[in-house]
Amino acid sequence: MGELNPMKTYRHIFFDLDSTLWDFERNSLETLTELFHETLEPRPGIPDFQVFLKQYHSINDGLWASYRRGEISREVLSPRRFQLTFESYGIDDPGFAHWFGEEYLRRSALKDHTFPDAREVLDYLRKKYPLHIITNGFTEVQTNKLHNSGLREYFDVVLSSEEIGINKPDPRIFREAMRLCGALPGESLMVGDDEMVDIQGAAMAGMDQVWYNPEGAPATLNSTYEIRSLGELKDML
Ligand SMILES: [Mg+2]
Repeated sequence: MGELNPMKTYRHIFFDLDSTLWDFERNSLETLTELFHETLEPRPGIPDFQVFLKQYHSINDGLWASYRRGEISREVLSPRRFQLTFESYGIDDPGFAHWFGEEYLRRSALKDHTFPDAREVLDYLRKKYPLHIITNGFTEVQTNKLHNSGLREYFDVVLSSEEIGINKPDPRIFREAMRLCGALPGESLMVGDDEMVDIQGAAMAGMDQVWYNPEGAPATLNSTYEIRSLGELKDML
């Protein structure tokens, strides 16, 4: 990780939500496990959960790739990932897939697992900086996640991509978030786990960036800073 530039004074810290503060993977897995056992396990043709999960992830990844290429919308992605998964097991029931997709979003937003040091770091940072959220997702779902996990109180501006119809990494969503809180790019820092989405986008908007890279994945971009745990932010800021 680069040393903090002593010439630089940050006045606003922006965070991504999913997989940066809110433990998306764990919350998602818990939700899928519940829904699977409640609605799919008794059906003929449905494999065991691990096999089902692998199939779902492969289909979901493919649809996210289409989404990033602008070929499908989030509204389409949400039910289709389940519809295609169910179809691969002989269940052709778009109504059920739609319900499952909605229920998955609704229930996962009720889950409250955050990363271990998230709260401690936010407690520290909020005494020194106004904190904000820039998140790709549905406004209602992302708001519920923030409230149910007790994170909402830490943030001033919370901007979702649905609210303005622009997704990260488009720099316009970062600029809009800065406009809403009266921040300038040169005094703003973006913290996020996704290099292509959070880091690239913030850089294009003229903000410095902290890449939260817990797995130590090889970097493909030159982020301003890189951290393996959120706790490192306390030493930096
Ligand atoms: Mg993320």
